[in-house]
Amino acid sequence: NEQPSRLFQKADSVIEHLRSAGRLDRMFIGGEWVVPGGQDQASVIDPSTEEPVAEIALGTAQDVATAVAAARRAFTTWSVSSAQSRALLLDRVHALILERAELFAQAISLEMGAAIGFARLTQVPSAAEHIRVASENARSHAFVTHRGDMAIVREAIGVCGLITPWNWPLYQITAKVGAALAAGCTVVLKPSELSPLSALLFAEVMHDAGIPPGVFNLVNGNGPEVGAALAEHPDVDMISFTGSTRAGVLVAQAAAPTVKRVAQELGGKSPNLVLPDADLALAVPKGVAAAFRNVGQSCSAPTRMIVPRARLQEVERLALEAAASIVVGDPRSQQTTHGPVANRAQFNRVQEMIGIGIAEGAQLLCGGLGRPEALSRGFYCRPTIFSAVHSRMQIAQEEIFGPVLAIIPYDSVDEAVEIANDTVYGLGAHVQGQDLGAARAVAARIRSGQVHINYPAWNPHAPFGGYKRSGNGREYGIEGLEEYLETKAILGFQHASAPGTD
Ligand code: NAD
Repeated sequence: NEQPSRLFQKADSVIEHLRSAGRLDRMFIGGEWVVPGGQDQASVIDPSTEEPVAEIALGTAQDVATAVAAARRAFTTWSVSSAQSRALLLDRVHALILERAELFAQAISLEMGAAIGFARLTQVPSAAEHIRVASENARSHAFVTHRGDMAIVREAIGVCGLITPWNWPLYQITAKVGAALAAGCTVVLKPSELSPLSALLFAEVMHDAGIPPGVFNLVNGNGPEVGAALAEHPDVDMISFTGSTRAGVLVAQAAAPTVKRVAQELGGKSPNLVLPDADLALAVPKGVAAAFRNVGQSCSAPTRMIVPRARLQEVERLALEAAASIVVGDPRSQQTTHGPVANRAQFNRVQEMIGIGIAEGAQLLCGGLGRPEALSRGFYCRPTIFSAVHSRMQIAQEEIFGPVLAIIPYDSVDEAVEIANDTVYGLGAHVQGQDLGAARAVAARIRSGQVHINYPAWNPHAPFGGYKRSGNGREYGIEGLEEYLETKAILGFQHASAPGTD
């Protein structure tokens, strides 16, 4: 085996690296790179060219069984290892992700179309943060507490199946793996078959960081076969799923007969409630940027800007100005702020929903159907803003997962709060206003897992997750770690009273 330090000096071609290291046709199981049981392959498509860039091997239900068995064997020792030693391992993982940041950025840009600048400055560093925070939490968490004569022990739940989507491919992986390993669980990761490159690089990092065999396993594969096999496997104790509400429900159904814990991070249609006293010159451009971040492919993207009707014209002018500064183009170019959407299905979905918005009678402020001029191929969409949207329109109700923003006017703050809560989702939310007391009062009335007042900086310690159909459970921060723990009460631990007496 070539030394990792040599391998990663030439971070110029991620595919060349993965191919020459023999990763593309392998899975990482029990500490080794193994060939899968089946013959199936999937093409990784570069969304900026629509061309395949690599073929990866897809696993089978049998590979899942092998990986779960490896994780089960490893659980015996890993679950009773010291939290300090687990934190040290996570520190090495964190350092290696940063050392190989350029390779990860290239992988993410290639597999889901993120502009290279965005991949470098946001996707990779924020993914690494989840590992750093998990290490910190492993060190500081009180895994054993005492109450009266009892010891309350919080211990690892067991073998966890982790199923992740393509939109923030590395970030979704590190959020789950970091917390699960910090808790003392062992894992089988199934990343999206559409964005498997950063996952393969992550498995290399785990190996090079010295993860004990079986503690971390990677099985690539599609949802209905490999994902479903993981969800129904009797020896998996918990599934943590991030993806669409549709697949999340299927996973919960498959997990039900074996009574697994299921954490679901699903879709969203997050509101951005602009109060009458908001400073629009700040609130609107930042709101447009937040909605179009990662080309709108974030489950918590604030895609509904709810604004005072009396100030609608000013909002529209500022929103148009903000949209005009977006540079859609080749994700490899430093000038590009927005690459294509991640895949053909997503492109078709965005086009369909823009068509629906036009047909519903929403006012098209900018963007619209088709690719931006000068881009004849690639899954590029035009940053699209609809105004005069009514809350009951389909474009205000359904998650689009692309660069489409709906501006919804309101007449009173009560109505604005009603609109904010008027979807089946409850993941993220924003409130803008200069009177902090009023903004807090509105935040208290919004039914969602996070509310951001006046765009605070991203905080990896903030628990994240859904109310309503946006999901169950929380990720990130200490709450994210606790998801992977069972609670054991040991009564009589202190022998406070003689057995059998009052
Ligand atoms: P998806 O549901 O199609 O796929 C997500 C993952 O689930 C993939 O790994 C896929 O292979 C797997 N999968 C699909 N069907 C499965 C099945 N029957 N059993 C087991 N696994 C299955 O979603 P996607 O297209 O990858 O991602 C987009 C969606 O994810 C959006 O709807 C978005 O809202 C949601 N999302 C949510 C969050 C969150 O934290 N709440 C974050 C990112 C994305």
